[in-house]
Parts: sequence; C-alpha cells; structure tokens
Amino acid sequence: MRNRIGGVGKLFGTDGVRGIANEEITSEMALELGKVMGTLKRGKIAVAMDSRISSHMLKSAAIAGVLSTGNNAIDLGFAPTPALQYYVKTSKDVVSGIMITASHNPKEYNGIKFIQEDGREFTRKMDEESEELFKSKKYIVAPWNEVGQLFEDNCYRLYIDGIKEKVDVEAIQKRNFKVVVDCGNGAGCFTTPQLLKELGCKVLSINAHPDGNFPGRNPEPVEENLSLLKHVVKLYNADLGIAHDGDADRVVFVDEKGRFVSEDVSLALMAKYYVEENNGGKVVTPVSSSKCVEDAVTDAGGEVVYTAVGSPVVAEKMVEINAVFGGEGNGGLVFPEHLHARDGAMGAAKMLELMAKQNKRVSELVEPIPKYYTIKEKLPCRDKIKLLEGLKDEFPDANFIDGARMDYEDGWLLIRPSGTEPIVRIFAEGKDKETAEKIFEIGLKAVKRILRN
Ligand code: MG
Repeated sequence: MRNRIGGVGKLFGTDGVRGIANEEITSEMALELGKVMGTLKRGKIAVAMDSRISSHMLKSAAIAGVLSTGNNAIDLGFAPTPALQYYVKTSKDVVSGIMITASHNPKEYNGIKFIQEDGREFTRKMDEESEELFKSKKYIVAPWNEVGQLFEDNCYRLYIDGIKEKVDVEAIQKRNFKVVVDCGNGAGCFTTPQLLKELGCKVLSINAHPDGNFPGRNPEPVEENLSLLKHVVKLYNADLGIAHDGDADRVVFVDEKGRFVSEDVSLALMAKYYVEENNGGKVVTPVSSSKCVEDAVTDAGGEVVYTAVGSPVVAEKMVEINAVFGGEGNGGLVFPEHLHARDGAMGAAKMLELMAKQNKRVSELVEPIPKYYTIKEKLPCRDKIKLLEGLKDEFPDANFIDGARMDYEDGWLLIRPSGTEPIVRIFAEGKDKETAEKIFEIGLKAVKRILRN
C-alpha cells in the first residue's frame, strides 16, 4: 500500500492516517478503521468531519464500521477537531472519537484521526495497536440484533460554552474589539465567528462558508496564504486578525497593523502569559520550536521542557509533568485547563483576553519577544540510521530527543530526519542572519560529511 503521509508500509503517520481521497485513503479503509475503533473501545463513539469534499464519504463508512462492531455512534456532522475532542472529553458515556480531516493539507487529501476518551489524540503506541488490528482484521462482529444504532448530536454550543468558562468574558466584552477572522472555508466556520460575537467583538468573517474546494485560500494558515486577511485587517482598522487551518485546531494572528505574527512568536507570547498567570510552571514544546519561546518563558520565571515533534507527544508530556501550557511553532496551542490538544478557537479567545487584561495592542505585546533569524532547508536522505549514527559522532553533546539539537550561545541547530519522507531537515536559528547562516553551515557540512562516507 502506498501511503506517503504515513510513511512506507505504515498506515498511521504522526497525525493519524492521511492521503489523497479515493487513491490512498478509501471508503474501504474508513470502514475498516471504524471497525478497528469499535473493537478497541466499547461504548458510544462520536464521529465528526471537516468541510472536505470526501469527508461525507469517509465519515459514513467509518460510522458503518463502528456500528458493525455493536457500538453506538454519534454523528456530530461538521466540526472543528477540538470541538469533537471536547465533546468526547466531557460526554460521560462517550468512549472515543473519530475525526475525518486532513487538517492543513491541500484539498485532494483527507484523513482519519482517533481520539481518546479524555479528548487527547491517540498516542503513538495506540496508533500502533490500531494498525496491528487493521492488519490482523480480528474485528468484533455483532450479531444482527446487536448491531449499533446511530444518533445525531451537535457539539458547537458545548464547545463555545466550554471556552467561555475558561476566559475572562467580561474583560473581553468591555473592549468591543474589532476582529477579522479567516476560517479558510474550513470547519472553524461553524464555531469561531460565533464565539467571537459572544465575546462582544465586532466580527468581520472572510472565507466564511464551509467549502471543500477551498476557494478562498489553501487550508494551511501560513503567511503566504493570508494576504487577504492582512489586507482586510488594515482596511477595517481591526484590532486583531485570526486565521485557522482546515480543521481549526491551529490558530495564527495578524496584528492591528496588518502584519503577520510569526507562529513561534505567538506561541512564546501565550506561553509567557500562562507562566505569568500561574506564577511559574512548565511549558512543553518540541525541539523544533524557536528559542524565543524558551527566552520568554525563562524570563517570566518558568521552565521549558522539550519533546519530539508532534502534538500527541507534546500533550502526553504536558499531562505527565502537569505543565501550565504547551504548543508547537505552527499555530498549535495547547491550553490544559480546556483540552490536552491543539485548540484554535481557545487560542483566539485567549489572545483577546491577553489584549484586554494587559490593555495592549498586539504589536505592543509582540514587541518584547526576542527576535531570531531562522533558516530551514531539506536534503534528500535515504539512510536515516547512518545519519543518526553519524550525528552521534559529530555532536556527542547534542539533545537526541528527535534528530539532533545543538544549543549554542547565540542560536541553535536541529538536524532531523523526516518520519514520513526520505529527507532530512536542517533548522538553524541565530540572533541575526549571519549567526543563523554560520550555524546552518555547521549542520549542512556535517550532514554532507556523514552521508558521503
Ligand atoms: Mg489541523
């Protein structure tokens, strides 16, 4: 089986099962994955989908699989991934969830993600267990009169209220913020504009209807896809611009001047806020995050704990060490009091709370976050074991949590073979361009030397 995102011969990648719909990820596969979940978890299973064209097909098949094992299923229809996760977490009789989404991937993709009873994504180990069952096909088959029943429910109100319970609604409402939100025709359309309205904001929504052709922009909320948002924020004289990816578990921001706030900077900003509010505490982030996160957290009296790349790993570590906050440098922010998972709408609400409580504009909040210059490149690499062995010789003092990360006085270097493609990524970061280039050269030379030998 060809599954580029999961890696060669592997079904589950770092973010569930992903691929091109009806080529790599088919209705048969969704049916079987529904059976897998129904066999592993006994009880009600909630299923939701993002706005992709193939989502109905995959959701229906996954539900059929669940019902065949004798479990009842709850169809939540369209929903952001964190809204499904919050529903699973807070509904007492729901034992797990299935999310049909390819997150930020282009429109031809889709995917299936498994959710645990506490709302977290399946861990790597659970994905492996699921994959084994998928291969052995030892599914539970219910007798005819015990086949599961299908119920329908809606998770928007529960999710929006859940967020409102955890932010200072009054403080935000008093400010009557003007906000532009770009849900990118994805699942965020169903919840974020409504939440912002209830927080007393004057809301202008762009790309605001769910559409699997993603006519407004590519679902990945990176700066080059957000020129309309930046423009409208300026035109509308808004206080904040907000954008989500296709399933609204990620959030990024544009300041009142229409400038994109780098994802690492918003992560640092939010981490600092949480450490300040908690009078210290631990913040979890992958080794690929910018040093500006560690600087901001340490400055505020907190501590950064690094993990391997991938949001389930971050969430797992957060639970283990009781972290006050966590996140990735791609707009994936984790607010433990709400959900141990990335949460786009919660991120938007918390940013407004921060602006309201500190009475500052976004540009003023961003200003004190240390600036770094980053270089990211990828090189072909077919022999990852050789690379990792070589890196241990080249950099014996490195941190080997995920690839090799070397910290220098004025920057850092990460050399990380991809888990899904035959490539190695080199990240270098420095206080300025020259330092970043110097550090990058060290990495590039080492990789070339190792792979040549
Ligand atoms: Mg996503």
